[in-house]
Amino acid sequence: MWSTVSASQLQTFTLCQRKWVLESVLGIKSPATAAQQLGTDIHAILEDWQRTGKFPTNSSGEAADAVQRAETVRHYLGHKLPKPRTSLVEQAIHETAPLSIAGVPVRGYIDLRLGRDVYDYKTTSSYKYIKSEDELASNIQLIIYAYWVLMQHPEYTSVTVHHIYILTRGKPAEPRLVSVELARTHVEAEWAKLIPLVEEMQRLQSRDPNTLPLPEASACHAYGGCFHWATCHTTNKKPQEHTMPAPTPPPPNNPVNALRERLLAAQGGKPPPMPVSPPDAPQTAGAPPRPPLPSLSPRPRMPG
Ligand code: SF4
Repeated sequence: MWSTVSASQLQTFTLCQRKWVLESVLGIKSPATAAQQLGTDIHAILEDWQRTGKFPTNSSGEAADAVQRAETVRHYLGHKLPKPRTSLVEQAIHETAPLSIAGVPVRGYIDLRLGRDVYDYKTTSSYKYIKSEDELASNIQLIIYAYWVLMQHPEYTSVTVHHIYILTRGKPAEPRLVSVELARTHVEAEWAKLIPLVEEMQRLQSRDPNTLPLPEASACHAYGGCFHWATCHTTNKKPQEHTMPAPTPPPPNNPVNALRERLLAAQGGKPPPMPVSPPDAPQTAGAPPRPPLPSLSPRPRMPG
């Protein structure tokens, strides 16, 4: 049952309506990839650093990699970010001051906020995927966060949004910071564009995903290939009948896992944030090529 909307959902919906129905209405989620897990670990380390001022020690293996990559943020950007223990970390906007679009409650977590500055960590396999200031100015996630901050502070005339890009491939490198100041009038205009999108979600939420239009083929090939490829390209199975592979369990005795569990407890059981929402997870350079999309045959309607 679909009951809340998020920036990630809106971004997925604009990419492929089928994918949004499969994942956010029917609950058929893509399992986390190794790169996403690394990003989640980096997020957890940075959140803990901002909350406590500490970094994990005595890490090895994958955990050490996450720590080293998170450390680049502290080393290169520490002087440009709020000092630890001075800002709001993983602020749940739906708990602090509920917001809705077209009557649908919005869920979201702001990675880091100090006053009118909103920061979001982005892990990426290559800096060629870094967004420009203009792209940040229309980024759905940042517009939602900026709008929420402006609603809490009628005295603000603008909000400055920041993306912090952290490399997840190759040697740890200097992270990149992209920032842009958004005027209240701009944020409100961009927010208004989200209303018809959510109204369309409401209208399509009960549809059989196979009756929804196919996106551009590039959407199916993006981010290393869509997890639902087989669902959309098999004519004799309903999506629920496919066996979904379980995510790989994290290794035991991993200090980052312990950190993640501590964060979970601190956040009241909220899952750790995904480091990169789907539209921000660029296709990796070495991804295998996908065949072109064949046309789909009609399939039986799924129950509501
Ligand atoms: S395989 Fe293509 S059509 Fe199917 S959900 Fe993914 S992006 Fe959408």
